[in-house]
Amino acid sequence: MQDRVFAGIRATGRQHIGNYLGAIQNFVALQDRFECIYSIVDLHSLTTLTDTDKLRFNVRETAMDLLAAGIRPEESILYVQSHVPEVSELHLLLSMVTPNGMLLRVPTFKEKVRSQPDNVNYGLVGYPVLQTADIVLYRANKVPVGEDQLPHLELAREIVRRFNRHFGDIFPEPEAELTNAPMVLGFDNRKMSKSYGNAVEMAATPEETAKAVRGAITDPQRVRRNDPGRPEVCNVYALHGAFGPERQPEIYEQCTTAGIGCVDCKGQLADSINETFAPIRARRAELAAHPEQVDEVLADGAMRARVIAREVLAEVKDAVGLPPAPA
Ligand code: SF4
Repeated sequence: MQDRVFAGIRATGRQHIGNYLGAIQNFVALQDRFECIYSIVDLHSLTTLTDTDKLRFNVRETAMDLLAAGIRPEESILYVQSHVPEVSELHLLLSMVTPNGMLLRVPTFKEKVRSQPDNVNYGLVGYPVLQTADIVLYRANKVPVGEDQLPHLELAREIVRRFNRHFGDIFPEPEAELTNAPMVLGFDNRKMSKSYGNAVEMAATPEETAKAVRGAITDPQRVRRNDPGRPEVCNVYALHGAFGPERQPEIYEQCTTAGIGCVDCKGQLADSINETFAPIRARRAELAAHPEQVDEVLADGAMRARVIAREVLAEVKDAVGLPPAPA
């Protein structure tokens, strides 16, 4: 069997340039090497119960960004998690072999307990089990992750091992397809995130992009235009590396000799970002004008995903020993 990649994308709506650099451009590239299944994971979004009234809108916005960036639905499967209900059933079955203690020790769960103490729900605890179900429902054997996400994948592998020990060799242990995507900071030097308001959306206009970049923090010791700068501590310089690496040596030279001011340097970065996203924004505008086409892609993706999901789930239920459902 050809290696099969699975990745879930949270249904957060419009994706920002950090999402693009950190994940989406890699999802696009993986299509050249693997059979790929990409899921917009709307069920996962319910664990926080915020903005659920925007969930449908956000799902479509997320899909538009993925398609505009280059996900090819004629080759890859792009679908919405809740459109394949088999995942919820598999989640339940996997939960039977997953010890509570293991889930309660997950650092992201502990973090959620701290950040939303009034809503510590089962969905949060079971999050890794649903993530595992997402992957193994398609017998995907490759999961694109960064180094920092390896512990999550190890949890999925442990659940798979436990299931296989109980019920036979049903699932492959998913392996990491390691990405070396840069960790992208926002314009205030915190992690780039929509909730911090320090990101630029992929679909932003050139003017919005330029305005956001103008507000970026640079080298704090470079107070006057004539002061030489320290590119190694400047996030604008790091972003140049992501959007125009060929220009970085020149910018380094100009910055350290005060040959360029931060205003011009930021202007060049905004130009590079706008150049990178110009074709993506054009494709996105076409999709936004025809949302029914996006819905068709997602419906087709769900149909193809369910063909695999039904077959795998039937095998799992048989292995578990559940009685066959009446015809
Ligand atoms: Fe950063 Fe560019 Fe200013 Fe140097 S010139 S400190 S790299 S913004």
